[in-house]
Amino acid sequence: MNSDCLFCKIVAGTIPAKRVYEDDQCLCFADIHPQAPTHLLIIPKEHIASQAHAEEAHAALLGHLMATAANLARSEGLDKGYRVVINTGPDGGQTVDHLHLHLLGGRAMNWPPG
Ligand code: 5GP
Ligand code: ZN
Repeated sequence: MNSDCLFCKIVAGTIPAKRVYEDDQCLCFADIHPQAPTHLLIIPKEHIASQAHAEEAHAALLGHLMATAANLARSEGLDKGYRVVINTGPDGGQTVDHLHLHLLGGRAMNWPPG
């Protein structure tokens, strides 16, 4: 827990969020500014600042986040496809410094991203 971190506060419940799924390792909640009909954030409960801070010791946790994204996409009915995004650092457009997967779906996505 990083007491200055917005997403750690959401994990702790001190900032509210529309919680969709939770287990011992991760939390999923709705993005406050959705960019698609389905826009969920999947985060580790452990504070990891970004994908750039990921290490081999996090491998099982990172795999669990990906598997959870797939489970949530199935439960959200995203059978035509979806996009999983990890914005990383300033050039990657990261605005909250707690590693998170965006699960976006319910519309066709563009490529390349902006
Ligand atoms: P990033 O830009 O770091 O990849 O994504 C951060 C995401 O967090 C953004 O999509 C933004 O809308 C979302 N977000 C920022 N503050 C809050 C909040 O207080 N609650 C929720 N649910 N989402 C937030
Ligand atoms: Zn955090």
